[in-house]
Amino acid sequence: MKQTHRRESSRGKILDLIRVSGPVSRVELADMTGLTQATISTAVRSLLNDGVVLETGRGESTGGKPRMLLELNPASRLGLGVHIGQDYITYVVADLSGRVLGRRRVSGPGDASPMTVVSRITDDIDRLFDALAVDRETVVGMGLAAPGPLDRTEGAMIGAPSFRHWTGFPLRRALSTTTGLHCEFDNDATAAAIGEYWLGATEGYSSYASVYMGSGIGAGIVMDGTIYQGVSSNVGEIGHVSVDANGLPCPCGNIGCLELYASPQVVVAQAAEAAARGELNVPLTGVVSEDFAAVGTAANDGDPVALRLIGRSAEYLASAVISMVNLLDLQLVVLAGSAFATAGSFYVDTIASALDKRAMARAIHRVEVRMSVNGNDAAALGAATLVLQDRLSPRTLRSVSIA
Ligand SMILES: [Zn+2]
Repeated sequence: MKQTHRRESSRGKILDLIRVSGPVSRVELADMTGLTQATISTAVRSLLNDGVVLETGRGESTGGKPRMLLELNPASRLGLGVHIGQDYITYVVADLSGRVLGRRRVSGPGDASPMTVVSRITDDIDRLFDALAVDRETVVGMGLAAPGPLDRTEGAMIGAPSFRHWTGFPLRRALSTTTGLHCEFDNDATAAAIGEYWLGATEGYSSYASVYMGSGIGAGIVMDGTIYQGVSSNVGEIGHVSVDANGLPCPCGNIGCLELYASPQVVVAQAAEAAARGELNVPLTGVVSEDFAAVGTAANDGDPVALRLIGRSAEYLASAVISMVNLLDLQLVVLAGSAFATAGSFYVDTIASALDKRAMARAIHRVEVRMSVNGNDAAALGAATLVLQDRLSPRTLRSVSIA
């Protein structure tokens, strides 16, 4: 059993290296991993047999046998990513290289019962697979991302503010049953952190966090090249870090939580008040994500009230990010999620400048702040890579620091 486990983990590590560094020879793989030639040969043979990796001609000979190079066969396996957000459900089909073959975005679950939504999602997936002419045999499974907190063992959401009536509903099991797909479940911020890594956007950084802002605010944390899951996968709840010990009571039980000051919902409520006073002229529809984007657009256009509201949210977020960076000594913070789509540059600038001035280790190293490479689809694409990672290279995010 232990032997099989080790063999699978070498196979995963080697696949990950071929994906990140290919085309690459067996000798180079041995150098990079420290594994024996025999272990490399066995793992490569198994990857070739499965069609996940291809031999692609010969590399430079170093005097002995010419080296056969190995590279990924991206189309050989596909992952489906599903992100359930408050306003939208997003679907992404991605191949092994992280390339998106197709995406679809539909309106969010609203007040519908979880079982009704599960049946809608099942139909949406069927339609997406049909439209893309996906061979279902190649789909390794579905990654499902949802706002935390989660019970990952039961595959259920447990009390995310917009999903209270979903608490305890066995979402992963229900979707796995209706779609027939293997289903991996995690929170949207962790999915986004894996997605960044998978697309090579975090190369050179072994300790980083993604800050995901959709309806709530969460963080996915990678330390020493490994995704950090905590005891119950509820890590990175940065939205419930207190930014005011004498502040407002939060439904989570804590006081002065970041989300009460910085979330899109709060900014939109403040914008509505300003609009009612006649200080701000922004079209508000009642859909938080759209209204937040409208405030972001007004800020981009230089509206002073919109700038003040976005600026205040960004300052609060920066405070919490500094606490996270001080606790974990991170090198990189990636901002992901629909909320950063329009006003992202304000957040990047505010957080970067706050870290430069106030982070504890600022004299020793800089902390880079940037937008996600995956834009609006960060959680859905992250979820697709989550299932690809889990099925093909489990527990091998670490290879990022080996490479
Ligand atoms: Zn809270």
